[in-house]
Amino acid sequence: NVWRSEEVDKSRRELPIIMMEQEVMEAVQENDVVIICGETGCGKTTQVPQFLYEAGYGSPLYKDRCGIIGITQPRRIAVLTTAKRVAHELNLQLGKEVGFQVRHDRKIGEKSSIKFMTDGILLREIQYSVIVLDEAHERSVNTDILVGMLSRVLPLRNRLYFQNKRSEAVTPLKLIIMSATLRVEDFTANQKMFPLPPPVIHVTARQFPVTVHSSRKTELQDYESAAYRKVCAIHRKLPPGGILVFVTGRREVEALCKRLRLSFTPSSKLESSDGKPVAKREDSALLSGTECGALDMRSVADAVDEEDDDSSDWEEDVDGFTGENDSSSSGVSDVEDTDKTPGNETSNMDHVRKPGPALVLPLYAMLPAAAQLRVFAAVPEGKRLIVVATNVAETSITIPGIRYVVDCGRAKERKFDGSSGVSRFEVGWISKASADQRAGRAGRTGPGHCYQLYSKTHYHHNFPDFAPPEISLVPIEGVVLVLKCMGIDKVMNFPFPTPPEKEALLEAEKCLTALSALDRTTGLPTSIGKAMALYPINPRHARMVIAALQSARVMGGKSRKSVIAACAVAIAAALSVENPFFSLEESFKDEKDVAATTPSGEAMKATKKPERHRFKNTSSDALTIMNALRAYEESSNQAEFCTASHLNQKIMKEMSKLRGQLSRLVRQQLLEDLLIGSGLEEGWKQLSRKKLSANEEKALICALCAGWPDRVARRVTRRDRLDTAKSRKRGIRYQASSLHGQEDGGDEEGEGRSIVYLGPSSSTFSFASDFVVYKEIVETSRPYMACVSSIDAH
Ligand code: ADP
Ligand code: MG
Repeated sequence: NVWRSEEVDKSRRELPIIMMEQEVMEAVQENDVVIICGETGCGKTTQVPQFLYEAGYGSPLYKDRCGIIGITQPRRIAVLTTAKRVAHELNLQLGKEVGFQVRHDRKIGEKSSIKFMTDGILLREIQYSVIVLDEAHERSVNTDILVGMLSRVLPLRNRLYFQNKRSEAVTPLKLIIMSATLRVEDFTANQKMFPLPPPVIHVTARQFPVTVHSSRKTELQDYESAAYRKVCAIHRKLPPGGILVFVTGRREVEALCKRLRLSFTPSSKLESSDGKPVAKREDSALLSGTECGALDMRSVADAVDEEDDDSSDWEEDVDGFTGENDSSSSGVSDVEDTDKTPGNETSNMDHVRKPGPALVLPLYAMLPAAAQLRVFAAVPEGKRLIVVATNVAETSITIPGIRYVVDCGRAKERKFDGSSGVSRFEVGWISKASADQRAGRAGRTGPGHCYQLYSKTHYHHNFPDFAPPEISLVPIEGVVLVLKCMGIDKVMNFPFPTPPEKEALLEAEKCLTALSALDRTTGLPTSIGKAMALYPINPRHARMVIAALQSARVMGGKSRKSVIAACAVAIAAALSVENPFFSLEESFKDEKDVAATTPSGEAMKATKKPERHRFKNTSSDALTIMNALRAYEESSNQAEFCTASHLNQKIMKEMSKLRGQLSRLVRQQLLEDLLIGSGLEEGWKQLSRKKLSANEEKALICALCAGWPDRVARRVTRRDRLDTAKSRKRGIRYQASSLHGQEDGGDEEGEGRSIVYLGPSSSTFSFASDFVVYKEIVETSRPYMACVSSIDAH
């Protein structure tokens, strides 16, 4: 029995899914797998767990339902906010009956009945009576694997339970898959996964009409300013209602919030000062997230000027708004009427020029939990809520009271680099489905308006219908390894919602075998493979780190174990980002005195720029970059350091951050009997005081060989021909040994294919040892080896 406050009862009654409690619970009773589709905001995430809870799931009183109700989310932000909300709605304490867990944070009691978690957490533990996979439309790799895995676990576990009812260990299991879009064929029509298609429950959300106003032109460059102007115009001209702005990342969110707050800062405070105090005011507003009072007229004037620069493009859109009853009109055709209608709100000039106060709030994944929750709090009377968000507000979180959406049409998305296997965040166009979702956010409370900062044509031609599932974009060695470690031997038969290509799977197994992560004969994961699966990085990088830890372990008493471990971690980070020295080549392109094109003349350049020699390790590019990272981290002025050393600061910053993360992770994973872990950061600092010994370098290069065993090459150019102008220009010829080469009997492929070059930009160029290991081939005018280390130098 649940007691809910009146306020909660009232807000629940408004959710479309509330009407369907019986239908949902009957479906769950009668089926092992149920799919629930319903628009964002219809109440899936917050209500379904409560239906289950009230039906006795998660309660020790019912033997077949005593397991926890587990709910997954692809995003941490949604785990935190919804767990809190559900606890509040049930009038229970967070951390007792309702708990949550994400990677570095958890609040969960022993008697918890409901547990919210990220899908990554669930992948590691399965002790539930019902599992709700939420936001299945996002198609994250983890969710996909969970669906496939659970489709197998489920019949097994339920059969076991009914065969042996008395067994304490086995409880039956139910699976609920929830999606914000109707596109669930990948789940329902997949016979391999569910031989009997599971029932699909459609929650018919009450969605008010949303008028979409596309821009005439697509803003290709400064969409942040375009968004700023649009928000100002809406706030100034249109009736009350929250504004939700979609930009791409944390920095953009904060910058736009700052700009908007500055525009809506009380004028008295601004006018009493002359510049500096304004900035101060802005900062304090930013820090505390405080709302602002009356509007600064100067800023409005600025805004108007800016708007005018942009011609009629947007004005037409905003003016198209004629009040809340007109939302079904096209907007454009009403432009002129609007301004001329006497008595119309927007035609009252006073009203137009003096917008009321606004509450500007940021929302992005990395924002502290308390700040994230502010978007749900009541907005003070008379203030307009303006939320500047990343795509977390697209489906994971529904903000109340939004009537206007401003959409820049982009999202920062994880992109995977096939060659390095590392993900990085890049800004790209969203899908049509996402654009429609974003627009829909304006129609939750009443008729709404969505202002798209891109044209209709652009939407039709450049936006894909749906974003591809993540699994079709990522390198799958990591996925294959994780599945194998879970005991799935024939990954080929695994019921993926969208299966990867057969060749890709075979290739991944081949690679993992070469890394000795899989046993050559049985194909089962080795102990090394299991250790690798614990690191969320590319298996090659993980293999390298593990190899380095292993050799540190067996090194003599005098050697600096923690230095080796720390260096391996740094190298893993360094090889995961782009080459920071790339900017060196770039910078030389501008210098007229350098002969011809890349990579010729690099050796000469290097001598001209002695800065680079500070980190140069003539037997390894990997160690050279590692030295640069060490120097970067300890320099007092990193920007200056990067300029002087021809390093790309952005890449260095990313590398350094990644190193810190990996270092923390290795520390967590290390066994207690190893003292390496405790001194990892100290070990890294020691490197500045005392350089690596020959033995220590050797250990690290051996570790590189363990991670890239198939990327080894032998020099073909004879030593006496090395120093010719030709070799300096073209690079030095090497014969690559590839996995295929070995298996096909070597020479089949023909020499031409396996010839690779050592370019002059490698720090090992002058040495050109007989055997090298490299990270990848970069094909420019010829296939050049990237990130080369000499194997026989020691
Ligand atoms: P769905 O999962 O179907 O997208 P939700 O269950 O997340 O829908 O949201 C239902 C309603 O509950 C929305 O109106 C949303 O604004 C509200 N809500 C969700 N989380 C919170 C919270 N932490 N605080 C206040 N209201 C919330
Ligand atoms: Mg949801």
